[in-house]
Amino acid sequence: MQAEDDCSGRNSGERDNSLVSGGERATCGQSQNGEAPFRPPLSWKEPDFWDEEKLLSEMERIFDICHGCRRCLNLCDAFPTLFELVDGSGTMEMDGVAKRDYWKVVDTCYLCDRCYAIRCPFVPPHEWAVDFPQLMLRARAVRHRSRGVSFRERLLASPDGIGRLAAIPGVARIISAVVGRAAAHGRLHLPRESALPPFHRDTLRKRCRRLISPSAGIPEVDGGVVLFATCYGNFNAPDLGGDLIAVFEHNGIPVVLTETERCCGRLRLELGDLDAVARAKAVDIPVLAGWAERGWHIVAPLPSCVQMFRQWLPLMFPDDPQVQKVRNAIAEPFEYLVRQFEADKLRVDFKHPLGVVLLHLSCFSSERDVSSETRDILSLVPGTHVETMAGCIGAGGGCGSGSGRCDMPLAAGEHLLGRIRQVMPDHYGSGCPRAGRQIEMGLANGSRAEHPLTLLRLAYGI
Ligand code: SF4
Ligand code: SF4
Repeated sequence: MQAEDDCSGRNSGERDNSLVSGGERATCGQSQNGEAPFRPPLSWKEPDFWDEEKLLSEMERIFDICHGCRRCLNLCDAFPTLFELVDGSGTMEMDGVAKRDYWKVVDTCYLCDRCYAIRCPFVPPHEWAVDFPQLMLRARAVRHRSRGVSFRERLLASPDGIGRLAAIPGVARIISAVVGRAAAHGRLHLPRESALPPFHRDTLRKRCRRLISPSAGIPEVDGGVVLFATCYGNFNAPDLGGDLIAVFEHNGIPVVLTETERCCGRLRLELGDLDAVARAKAVDIPVLAGWAERGWHIVAPLPSCVQMFRQWLPLMFPDDPQVQKVRNAIAEPFEYLVRQFEADKLRVDFKHPLGVVLLHLSCFSSERDVSSETRDILSLVPGTHVETMAGCIGAGGGCGSGSGRCDMPLAAGEHLLGRIRQVMPDHYGSGCPRAGRQIEMGLANGSRAEHPLTLLRLAYGI
């Protein structure tokens, strides 16, 4: 199946298709006692989950363990916030921290899962059973149910709703103007209004109508890819989806889009609106599972959305076999490409060197080390040197979209910006397009962040 020019153009049954190494790996946390990590599902159907007193008591217990440990100090803003609260308290222990201040920690966590996935030695089955991200999600859910969220948070956590409105002729400019005016007057309290991405009328799904396939009569394939465009990829960055399609088809990989696609609910998850997540899941999962059952892989360009299907939905719906099927079939683009390379199916007849590339590693990809897979594929291009940099730049999920309560300064990524200014690479960007945009806004020198897929397309000369 070939993409139309407007699609990839820059201007305008039980199949074993698992991409998850290790099969039923529910977690990759590091258990100190050597036992295989086991991550209990989110107990959101249990009454105790919603009990605020019990929640605060669990927060105190886990915060106290973290205060004694402090390994995650440099991962994000949540841990420095916690440790400053403890160190600034009268007792310099958790008992000196007011419970109302616990929410300051909650507001600076954007559920990237890195502390659990790569750092914490006290995850279950360790007797301390530390699962910091699940605790933060529980806190957000309890707060959402008891106090609700503001209009602004609900609005900005509905990117597909805004995107559909923006697709109506004449409305995109009105939305931009209204949001821009409200931001200018401080009514939306946007953390970085200038970083809010534009909404395109000419969405990816409109550009790629001929790739949209009905769910009835799905053909069996060996190596076909269903592109879950994501709200960002569809409304905000349609060129990125075009690059993905061009690169995949250049490598002989059939790409289709599903008949229906809804927001995966990532931003609603970060608001703690678990019922909205369940509603989104009820639309997306049956469709995607149908494709997975016929041997198709699922690829999505937003690492945080992939994490939603791979991590959070399985934790919320551990007994749903369709959720497990989608979990096993979904991947980030470079995960898929690296497997193509390992199977000797990736074209390496690159036409253009990329020179020096400075690549930011997405926090949401760290569990699966997708970032090094991205670096490895780009490094195949002759005349290319890829330098990678990790670090939270406050672009994650609700922080990057403005829907979250966090208000991290861009200065959190100053070291990264400084490195780019120092190296002056030929190209820079991030596996997370939102982070790339954030870096671009931080540099503010007229340069453009380029997604690794865009760079790969450039290298192929297609
Ligand atoms: S989940 Fe991510 S943002 Fe939240 S505390 Fe852990 S590392 Fe920080
Ligand atoms: S999450 Fe785990 S590793 Fe990180 S500070 Fe807390 S106890 Fe330590």
